[in-house]
Amino acid sequence: MTVTPFPFGLPTGIPIDSLREHAKELLKSVQAGDAAALDRVKPYFRDPAGVTLQRIQLVIARERGFSSWRKLKDFAHARDELIEQKGKSLEDRRTFNSKEITEKNAVISPIVKRMADSAGAEDADPTVRRCSFCFKRQDRVWKFIAGSANYICDECVETCTGLVDDDRSGQALGPQEGLHCDFCGKHVREVRTVIAGAGTNICDQCVELCVTIITEGTQADSR
Ligand SMILES: [Zn+2]
Ligand SMILES: [Zn+2]
Repeated sequence: MTVTPFPFGLPTGIPIDSLREHAKELLKSVQAGDAAALDRVKPYFRDPAGVTLQRIQLVIARERGFSSWRKLKDFAHARDELIEQKGKSLEDRRTFNSKEITEKNAVISPIVKRMADSAGAEDADPTVRRCSFCFKRQDRVWKFIAGSANYICDECVETCTGLVDDDRSGQALGPQEGLHCDFCGKHVREVRTVIAGAGTNICDQCVELCVTIITEGTQADSR
């Protein structure tokens, strides 16, 4: 029953405000000459001691795979919209029929397109299905596993497997108490680990299932 953030972009549950605060703290540490803080800035700016808050924000954006703070902000806003949409869909998950799922996807896919745009995914064609964790296109990955409205690629399954395996980092639940696995719908309380991506979460049981699907697929391919 722990929540582990997916190590790319901006996981569910990290609000943009807390990153803004983090930027201010990092700036203070840099100005105080803190070695660890200076090391974070060095790869991006030659004169880390002279940086401004704006530049610190850029460092934080780059660390998370965004080309600018603005893109990180756009991503966070789209992500929060997506979470809100998904929250609604979760409430009436049981009564969903295929027509409603199609309608739901029509609402969700432009939001995912915006997230892919901000994350710098190579091209953001809204008609193409993408991994809900890394935003890679379905045709650019080796294996692609579909949930009811969420997808995960083989690379992200591998990343998640690692996170599930060394799940000792277990974060306190706190505000993330409402998290569900987007693939099976189980609550964080019902599973051992939930990996929180940017608007999409997956539990350890679904990760395991994905590994089975991928491995069996591999065996079938090599036959
Ligand atoms: Zn992926
Ligand atoms: Zn699950």
